[in-house]
Amino acid sequence: MTQSETLFERAQKTIPGGVNSPVRAFKSVGGTPRFIASASGAWLTDADGKRYVDYVGSWGPMILGHQFPAVQQAIVEQAAIGTSYGAPTEAEIEMAELLCARVPGLQMVRMCNSGTEATMSALRLARGATGRDYILKFEGCYHGHGDALLVKAGSGLLTFGVPTSPGVPADLAKYTLTATYNDLSSAEALFKQYSHQIAAVIVEPVAGNMNCVPPAPGFLQGLRSLCDADGSLLIFDEVMTGFRVGPSCATGLYGVRADLVTLGKIIGGGLPVGAFGGSRAVMSQLAPLGPIYQAGTLSGNPLAMAAGLAILKALAEPGLYERLEASTAQLLAGLQKAADEAGIAFTTTQVGSMFGLYFGQGPITGFADVSACDAQRFKRFFHLMLDRGVYLAPSAFEAGFVSAAHGPEELAQTIEAARASFAILAQA
Ligand code: PMP
Repeated sequence: MTQSETLFERAQKTIPGGVNSPVRAFKSVGGTPRFIASASGAWLTDADGKRYVDYVGSWGPMILGHQFPAVQQAIVEQAAIGTSYGAPTEAEIEMAELLCARVPGLQMVRMCNSGTEATMSALRLARGATGRDYILKFEGCYHGHGDALLVKAGSGLLTFGVPTSPGVPADLAKYTLTATYNDLSSAEALFKQYSHQIAAVIVEPVAGNMNCVPPAPGFLQGLRSLCDADGSLLIFDEVMTGFRVGPSCATGLYGVRADLVTLGKIIGGGLPVGAFGGSRAVMSQLAPLGPIYQAGTLSGNPLAMAAGLAILKALAEPGLYERLEASTAQLLAGLQKAADEAGIAFTTTQVGSMFGLYFGQGPITGFADVSACDAQRFKRFFHLMLDRGVYLAPSAFEAGFVSAAHGPEELAQTIEAARASFAILAQA
């Protein structure tokens, strides 16, 4: 038995499914999840000492690679003077100032502890601010596991085919309307039907929880117009895209302003974090300034602020995002060439250093296209790659991530592994 097998067996005795977040269990791809012993740069090392080029990056935060020196140092320095105070610190101001300076439209921001908290809080704020109950989301978009958002959600829920989780009251779920991503007319129809009742539209500006689906030209702008016409708030859930797709997030990249933006992942530098922000007028309605309640024992945690500030400062390096985009493009071109040579139907999507791999023909414009791809082939590919030292997301409904630590060597090894894997797939 491998160490990972031994640990998985042991984990399952006291942790549901042996994991603390469902997709980690490898349920949709089968086999034993690799228990990770350490990580450095672009590499993961499992409990058996096997090394993998990592394209999960802790599901997004590790844009500069594991153990990025400035982040490590900031954490160690902060730990030496305390890990949590339950009182305000200067680092929180610095974080808020930095986020407001970099994300267009952000005037005030509140820190919390996860992406889930960020979206839940943004929705409460939107509902409180508008006095409306309905929200509109898109099929295949995942916004964390808040009750109202577990309706036709992506990520693990697609992986496991549970469109709506038990435990979400029907009376609550009825306020969540779902439209089709990249299909403006589906959102328009709901705005007609629920005129002046929709508090907010929440959307992943690049859908990263049904693999990686870029917004169609005009889609985000169209949502902005629909919200404006109806007095509804637009929420960009940038938990994944924030500081991943560009230095001013998807908001800056696409030039469309949301009323509220949610953040997480990268802004914590690998520590638990979330944030939501927007205009002064809307954010001022939060307690203690206003009546809408939101709070957190560990919110603005000094360790998370230290790590987050260190990574955000490092991300300001000129040319960094261009380099990330170029190496991602190089990786995808290599994979595509290898698949073409093996005669495998395969296509990819990319926004910055976020990417999607699909066993099917493009174009990939939404949930239906992603669902139509060959899930069995992905499953085999995933394991063939894992055997060859490449760690992809263990689900066909998750975006992949390239980090600044992925150099020519890592990319070449990945493409070589893919070439061998495609050749085996072609024989089957
Ligand atoms: N929103 C989006 C777009 C996400 O990708 C995720 C997590 N993958 C979340 C929200 C939830 O964040 P967390 O897992 O930190 O609660």
